[in-house]
Amino acid sequence: MQIFRRFFYALLMTGLIVVSGWCFQTTHVVLVIIDGLRYTEGLGDPNHTYIPYMYSLKQEGAIVEPFQNDGYTYTSRAIPAIWCGAWTEMITFSDPSCGGEQNSYSELPTIFEYYRQQLSRPQSDCVYVLKNLCSWKASFNPIYGPNYWPLYHTVGSTDLAVWNEARTILINTHPSFMLIYLADVDHYGHLGNWNNYTRTITIADSIVGMVWNTLQSLPFYAGTTSMFVTNDHGRHTSNFSGHGDGCVGCRTIQLLAIGPDIQEGLVSTTPRTLRDVTPTIGELLGFTTEYATGTVMTELFTAPAPIADLTIKTTNRTNFLLQWSRSTGATTYKVYRGSSPETINILTTTTSDTFWTDQTVSGITYRFYQVTAIR
Ligand SMILES: [Zn+2]
Ligand SMILES: [Zn+2]
Repeated sequence: MQIFRRFFYALLMTGLIVVSGWCFQTTHVVLVIIDGLRYTEGLGDPNHTYIPYMYSLKQEGAIVEPFQNDGYTYTSRAIPAIWCGAWTEMITFSDPSCGGEQNSYSELPTIFEYYRQQLSRPQSDCVYVLKNLCSWKASFNPIYGPNYWPLYHTVGSTDLAVWNEARTILINTHPSFMLIYLADVDHYGHLGNWNNYTRTITIADSIVGMVWNTLQSLPFYAGTTSMFVTNDHGRHTSNFSGHGDGCVGCRTIQLLAIGPDIQEGLVSTTPRTLRDVTPTIGELLGFTTEYATGTVMTELFTAPAPIADLTIKTTNRTNFLLQWSRSTGATTYKVYRGSSPETINILTTTTSDTFWTDQTVSGITYRFYQVTAIR
C-alpha cells in the first residue's frame, strides 16, 4: 500500500537530524476553479445532468459533502480564500503590470508563494491560467511576495480559450502546479438565462474531463498528478441568477479530488470548507501553509492520517530513541530503516507504541528511518 512516511536521518557523530517531506506519489497538482457553480447543478445533482465528466471522475476519486464557502459568497473574496487557505483581506493598489490600473492583492501569502518559495521553484513551474483580465495579485508578504508570484497567463474571453491555453502550457512547459480559473458559469448565471447557464456548466465539465485526460496522456503527469476541482461560491437556492448571501445555495460548493494519493470512490462526510484546499495541496507537494486557517483533508488520502512528527534522540552512541505522535485512526506503526533514503526497506518493528529504541547503531555513522501509520 502507499503509505505516509517521513525520512529521518540521524548522524551519530553530531546528533544531527534531517527531516525530509512526506512521500506521496503526487508531484504535480492541477487546481480547477469553476466560478459560481451551484451544487444542485454540479455534483449535488443525483442525475448528473450537466456534469457527466465530473460524475465519472468522482468514481475514481473523492468528493466532500458538505463542502462549503464559510465566508463571503462572492468571487472577489472567495477566490483569494481558496489561494490563501484563509479569508484574506484584499488590498487595493495601482498595479504596474496592468498599466497602473486599480487592482487588488491579497494580504496573506498564497499557494503560489508557499509553493515557489519553499520548494525553490521557478515562476514557469507555477502557472495561473485565466481569461484576459488584470488578475488579482498575490501578497507582498516580506518572506514571500512578488518574487514568488505565479506566472499569470491571461488569455481569451471564454473558458474554452482558457483551456486551450492551459493545454498548450501543460504539453509544452509542464509546470508542476497549475491553477485553471473558469469564469463563464458565473457570468452566464448572472445573465439569468437558464439554458446558457447550464450550457456553460456542461462546457466547464467537459474541460475538467479534458484536463484529466490530457494529464493521463502526458508521461510527465500520468500517475503522479492530483487534480482538485472546486468553486468559490454557489448561487441563491431560490434564484440562480444571483449569489452573495448565506443561503444554502450560495454556501454549498463542491470539492472533487482525484489522483494517486486520493481514495477512489470516496464520499467523505467530514465537513470541509474552501479554506482546506490549499493546505491539502501543500501536504501532497511538501510545503507548509502557515498563514492558512484551513487544515489538511487527510481523510481523502489513500493512506492513514500521517504521523504528525517524529524525533530521534541519542543519549550515547549505542542507541537511538525514535518518538512520534499518535496519528488519528492509526492502530499500529511500522518502523523501517536502511543505510540510505533509497533503501529504507528493512521492516524493523511493528508496534502500537509511539516510540521505539534502536539498539543496533553502535559503529554506524548514520542511519535512515521511516515510520508509517497503519489503520
Ligand atoms: Zn457572480
Ligand atoms: Zn444566496
